[in-house]
Amino acid sequence: MDTDSNTSQTRKNLIGLSREELGAELAVLGEKPFRAKQVWHWIYHRGATDFAEMTTLSKVSREKLAEQFVVERLEVARHQVSEDRTQKWLLRTHGGHLIESVHIPEEDRGALCISSQVGCTLTCTFCHTGTQRLVRNLEPGEIVGQFMLARDVLGEWPTPTDGGRLLSNIVMMGMGEPLYNFENVKKALKIVIDEEGIALSRRRITLSTSGVVPMMARCGEELNVDLAVSLHAVTDEIRDQLVPLNRKYPIEQLLAACRAYPGASNARRITFEYVMLKGVNDSDADARALVALLKGIPAKVNLIPFNAWPGVAYECSSNNRIHAFARIVNAGGLSAPVRRPRGRDILAACGQLKSDTVKKRKSELLREQAEADAAA
Ligand code: SAH
Ligand code: SF4
Repeated sequence: MDTDSNTSQTRKNLIGLSREELGAELAVLGEKPFRAKQVWHWIYHRGATDFAEMTTLSKVSREKLAEQFVVERLEVARHQVSEDRTQKWLLRTHGGHLIESVHIPEEDRGALCISSQVGCTLTCTFCHTGTQRLVRNLEPGEIVGQFMLARDVLGEWPTPTDGGRLLSNIVMMGMGEPLYNFENVKKALKIVIDEEGIALSRRRITLSTSGVVPMMARCGEELNVDLAVSLHAVTDEIRDQLVPLNRKYPIEQLLAACRAYPGASNARRITFEYVMLKGVNDSDADARALVALLKGIPAKVNLIPFNAWPGVAYECSSNNRIHAFARIVNAGGLSAPVRRPRGRDILAACGQLKSDTVKKRKSELLREQAEADAAA
């Protein structure tokens, strides 16, 4: 039996319910509609996890709520802090699956890299997450829950109204393909954006996709967040190898969807991510072809030095190569910053996330194999 859903607990977790759903739950208990607004404020503005804290509610209401519901965070299986202050959380979902989120601090702001799935069904050949076999979609509460936990640890409740905070941005760039779990990602981000709660501006949210073309328009229309596209190659031949989804939605279709992305403009450019792989996609000719491909699209390029992981066949391009590539893209009129790898020492950098679930499984498999061999 699947024990992941909230309903399988004796008390239901309120995190992840839409405002309407929260209202409906409270109505069943005989609470007036304005109570939902108050509870929402306590959960998402104040960060309350205990109904006893919700002092604008009557004592009777608080007790009634506590009998039926919880406001529960994901369980932290491991918390690591990198020498560059990047933090990574390994979180356990109700069903025991492990996911990861990463906080990347800057001077006076910072982004949380949020996972949308346990593992990923796609198998990009340079990405550690893509090698994880165990996959399921995360629930809305597990997605927004990653944000809430980071805000707990950073001590940033109640939501400040003046901006200055270390958790100021969200990047949907953790484990998983967010456009393959669009409904749940949408519900979670709607909660994050809601002005009476966490109230994060859409402009502070970037969703990265490997190129799920049929979902891109909906992402723009229904969420209107900034878009990042994992391009990584300028020919279908190379992209087919790196991002196998390209065989389904080749570069031309992907770029057509980018041209049509609702809300993209020169003030709100689409970010094209490009992982720098030695001898694979990093030549001067590739850089020139990239400029040509992106002509007419409000674009910027983000060059990502490849982050290695155990057993991977690729190597990162040299610094000189990356900068020569960047100069050509810049000369072509596109901004092309090189992403500074963060948290490499704790395997928290882009593409390194892969929860221990499978590692454990693999070691179990190896042990079973060894036992079988011995028996034979
Ligand atoms: N599934 C989504 C979002 C998660 S990955 C996507 O693919 O866009 C976030 C970014 O990290 C993507 O651009 C991805 O291609 C890149 N990435 C994956 N593995 C990497 C690695 N080992 N080194 C550097 N970047 C990597
Ligand atoms: Fe999945 Fe993105 Fe990794 Fe590809 S790069 S396997 S889409 S997480």
